Amino acid sequence: MSTQHPETLALHAGWRADPATTSVAVPIYQTTAYQFESPEHAADLFGLKALGNIYTRIMNPTTDVLEKRVAALEGGVAALALSSGQSASAFAVQNLARAGDNIVSATGIYGGTWNLFANTLKDQGIEVRFVDAADPEAFARATDDRTRAYYAETLPNPALRVFPIAEVAAIGRSLGIPLIMDNTAAPLLVRPFDHGAAVVMHSLTKYFGGHGTSMGGIVIDGGNFDWEAHAARQPAMNTPDPSYHGAVWSQAAKPLGPIAYILKMRVTLLRDLGAAISPFNAFQILQGIETVALRMRAHCENAEAVVRFLSGHKAVARVIHPSTATGLEAERVAKYLARGRGAMIGIELAGGKEAGLAFIKALKMFYHVANIGDARSLAIHPATTTHSQLDVADQAASGVTPGYVRLCIGIEHIDDIIADLDQALAGL
Ligand code: PLP
Repeated sequence: MSTQHPETLALHAGWRADPATTSVAVPIYQTTAYQFESPEHAADLFGLKALGNIYTRIMNPTTDVLEKRVAALEGGVAALALSSGQSASAFAVQNLARAGDNIVSATGIYGGTWNLFANTLKDQGIEVRFVDAADPEAFARATDDRTRAYYAETLPNPALRVFPIAEVAAIGRSLGIPLIMDNTAAPLLVRPFDHGAAVVMHSLTKYFGGHGTSMGGIVIDGGNFDWEAHAARQPAMNTPDPSYHGAVWSQAAKPLGPIAYILKMRVTLLRDLGAAISPFNAFQILQGIETVALRMRAHCENAEAVVRFLSGHKAVARVIHPSTATGLEAERVAKYLARGRGAMIGIELAGGKEAGLAFIKALKMFYHVANIGDARSLAIHPATTTHSQLDVADQAASGVTPGYVRLCIGIEHIDDIIADLDQALAGL
């Protein structure tokens, strides 16, 4: 594994000038197919005896650089880029769990992932058992013989309580169950593999892309989970796959490295379901990644300044941000978010729903959007938008009160960010 720092990896990992043209920038290889060297070469590629390009639904040279770069930044061994964060979440689970199986997920997850888990995966026969991550042992209690994975987000909104990665990963490992972490909200701030996670996924649409232009997702294999040692627990990795001449993935991948999980995903789920990222989007996201370290630093510094400004404001009843955590929660923040405490902030406005809506209307520079991780500052009122399908009790259980506003602090000058918040709060 590289010892280079994230700032360096973000510019160099996975690429050193185009072998064909010497181009320094990663070219957009906008092609669907690749010329085989010979019939034998073609047969070797299809038989996984050699690795190489076959067809862009399954691999592409531009996307390959993106995969290597994000794998390096997360400290994983290999990655698979996909068309969106949603396809990354779906594939991460479907790669292990089949009809009749279950996974255990934290309740604190993005609404789109919640829908995927509670409805679509359920329709496919995969049960998702939701538990409150405040008690890591809840994952063990929800586990049975058919539990194939644990799933959680590093820093889920609206509550913004950092997930106890090491604690739950250790429980999982003792039972042969890998922890899948959605690290979308905290790239470069925390590396879940360092704390025992086995799989990491991101919506690349957010901080990695960074400019709100391109959809993408990625799943990264930590290469740190012994699938073979848990044959009964992980049948998808340890029984013959009829779709690939009876390959047993935990063994078939061995000559290529500890990449069984991600290799299986590429050559089965991506082949069959086709959620490929376009080479152009891979290029755009690579551009974003070149500056992700600088941006994350600016996002986090600006967010800390906004927390200080909001904390004393009379229109604000409560500020929710990892920097305001206390007790055990504060210990977890110190352990996991030493490199930065994130750019999302929840504010509880004293005037409830009316104040929330008036505040959103009054913002001039902040964009009112259902997105996070843009370089621009963003705001949304979850009770009337992202969480409006939930009744008031369920909203409250998820941490959304009528006066809750979610801010995602951008990288504009801090004085301009505070000036916009100040004038919008002044009218309440
Ligand atoms: N995970 C998290 C934490 C998200 O915030 C989102 C989108 O908002 C997703 C996954 C889904 O990603 P995408 O919108 O790229 O499909």
